[in-house]
Amino acid sequence: MVKGALIYEGKAKKIYSIANNNNLVWVEFKDSLTAFNGEKKAEMAEKGRLNSLITGLIFNRLSQSGVDTHLKEVVSDKEMICQKVKIIPLEVVVRNVLAGSTAKKFNIPEGTSLEKPLVEFYYKNDELGDPFISDDQALMLKAADSQEELNQLKQKALQVNVLLKDIFAATGIRLVDFKLEYGKNMQGEIILADEITPDTCRLWDMKTGEKLDKDRFRRDLGKVLESYQEVYNRLKNI
Ligand code: UDP
Repeated sequence: MVKGALIYEGKAKKIYSIANNNNLVWVEFKDSLTAFNGEKKAEMAEKGRLNSLITGLIFNRLSQSGVDTHLKEVVSDKEMICQKVKIIPLEVVVRNVLAGSTAKKFNIPEGTSLEKPLVEFYYKNDELGDPFISDDQALMLKAADSQEELNQLKQKALQVNVLLKDIFAATGIRLVDFKLEYGKNMQGEIILADEITPDTCRLWDMKTGEKLDKDRFRRDLGKVLESYQEVYNRLKNI
């Protein structure tokens, strides 16, 4: 397969077309790291490589457990070939433990475990800063076609949560929360897309509570890359 023209550049990935193939895209992970809706930025050599390797590993694992994902083939340390999808403009966030802005919002200490996982939608819109969106608002904005589709997204995200919690637990990592993105492929099927990485998850060491994710960058805790490397090392050894 031959890498074609750049069709989209986001904060963390570049998407290229593939010569003579309209069903697939070539995804390249970038070394940029952004937080707070792009206000805080950095370049970190190796970050793209680690996130690509981590996504490849996790998506393959999920796919073995019956989850439909956009990943077709890992082609290099920082590139993969994926099904072309139309991204549903909703970030699907699942929380097992309260952290970050949500802990603050309800004045509940960060680290409080939830009795059952919480699924939330955020509207993918940089100008608006990806605001929280209710089901009815998502339907009003036609971010999803129907309540049934929203229910499907929630159910799919909860299924991923069960599998992902186990994958990370096997490496001694507590899966606090994470964000998923879904897209519709050429056949109109809803499949898991984007990435699953320390950029999009909160991951805490089970023994020490040490943060192994993007909060190290957001909160200036240092050892950002080392933590991403640690997550990769642990995942590849299970
Ligand atoms: N998240 C993400 N992209 C976003 C927003 C959130 O990957 O645009 C991830 C984030 O890394 C965390 C989870 O989704 O693992 C929940 O994020 P939260 O809403 O708590 O964000 P906060 O405002 O606290 O950073």
